[in-house]
Amino acid sequence: TTDQVFEALEMIPDSQEYEDEHSVVSYGDIQKIIGKFGFRWKLEEKKVQKEKENKDVVKQPLPDLSAMKSRPPVVTIMGHVDHGKTTLLDSLRHSHVVDQEFGGITQHIGAFSVKTPTGQNITFLDTPGHAAFSAMRARGANVTDIVILVVAADDGVMKQTEQSIEFTNQANVPVIVAINKMDKPEANAEVVKNGLLKCGIQVEDLGGDVQSIPVSALKGTGLNELLDAVLVLSEILELKADYNGLVEASVIESKTHPGRGKLSTALIDRGTLKKGDVLVAGTAWCKVRGMFNDQGRPISKAEPGSAVEIIGWRELPHAGDTILQVKNEKRAHEVIQFRKSLKEDEKALEDARIIHEKMEQHRKDYHDKLEAKRSAGRRVGAIYKKERRKETETESSGPELAVVIKGDVDGSVEALLDALDTYQSDQCRLHIIHYGVGPITEHDVELAKSFNGVIYGFNVDCVGSAQSLANSSKVDVERHNIIYKLLDNIRDRLSKKLPLID
Ligand code: GDP
Repeated sequence: TTDQVFEALEMIPDSQEYEDEHSVVSYGDIQKIIGKFGFRWKLEEKKVQKEKENKDVVKQPLPDLSAMKSRPPVVTIMGHVDHGKTTLLDSLRHSHVVDQEFGGITQHIGAFSVKTPTGQNITFLDTPGHAAFSAMRARGANVTDIVILVVAADDGVMKQTEQSIEFTNQANVPVIVAINKMDKPEANAEVVKNGLLKCGIQVEDLGGDVQSIPVSALKGTGLNELLDAVLVLSEILELKADYNGLVEASVIESKTHPGRGKLSTALIDRGTLKKGDVLVAGTAWCKVRGMFNDQGRPISKAEPGSAVEIIGWRELPHAGDTILQVKNEKRAHEVIQFRKSLKEDEKALEDARIIHEKMEQHRKDYHDKLEAKRSAGRRVGAIYKKERRKETETESSGPELAVVIKGDVDGSVEALLDALDTYQSDQCRLHIIHYGVGPITEHDVELAKSFNGVIYGFNVDCVGSAQSLANSSKVDVERHNIIYKLLDNIRDRLSKKLPLID
């Protein structure tokens, strides 16, 4: 789990192990630490891509136009709230149902089909408003061919009318305007048309090419004209599909029915769906057990441009997902398995991303620490230079104490130098001949000897012969591991050098 990895990160040796800010944790270290927790870190995007091509189903290329036949248009109704979208859908559904002789109860399956007086079919998606529509588009399903924009003639263009127009522009879907509530005395179609012009929609009456139809959804007037307008536009759009081959469809709606189990409504994009077909959508799969139309009537096949309710899903697919037919169940399992593993990889990549961020932070913190040390080092260097300047200026005027400072780590040396900086006085000068990290060496002893100075070591030893050299050279070596004792000693020596005041 990510938590374990974070725990592992704490195991990464602290900054001191690294030489400079470019140090990164080696892959070896990462593997060791991560392996300890049984975590596997895999970054193989290229391989995954190649596997995907072999293991997943992909959409088939479209056949040439001669192999394609016309299909019913798919229409979505949009518009401002209360302008009559639901009423329009209802009156279309009830006045023009395909299956009148069946007398079934209208089922809400997310879409329905109407038959025009000329016998052609039109499929309406009955999820008005653009929330559902945009959710579908966000999943990459461009499910609608035509948008009917409903504008109430007593209200005109409103905020959501504008949003709908913007939406159709983005989706590049052609629009037909239904000017609704024409039965109302205050209805004014001209106001609507002019309002639309301001939004870039030029209706035919005003010299444009967008059809506008006055209707009353409530009274059911103008509906045939509206359907005619849809057919005219479909003709122009030349909506065709391949009725053969493997089925491709989009999920319009998905739900669990208490009696019938997992159901989804699919809009067929190509191919003809039949009972027994095997489908995959996302990581869900289905062997089609049965199909129903919007009247709840069982049907034996579903053709492009129609919406159908499918039973037989083992898991519910998501609205907007693409449905693809596969040869058989075995293939479906393979595909699902692969898609699930991809999801896991995505999860692993996400974990890796989080770890990467954490490491970056680790690196940054280290860099900041290092930078702080460096500036401290520069400060120390400046103090030292200042000392050297003073030394040449005052040229052995008065007493001085010469010292060599050695410490175990940067931090301690730095702390000592900082403390000693405050020990300067006019009477007696503290002369820092040399300082550094590490044990006391013969070189330190020689330096101290030539300045007649004292060596201070904090938490360090003398290397090999340094101590005996110090003894023979009569150089004092003061080794301490308590900082104030070391400082006390320096203070003592300084005060002993002060001229006696009577
Ligand atoms: P939606 O929010 O766009 O779905 O609007 P509705 O279909 O719920 O309609 C809102 C209100 O307007 C309801 O009270 C409808 O009865 C009324 N309404 C819808 N169409 C018409 C119409 O053509 N004429 C009149 N007079 N009222 C309508």
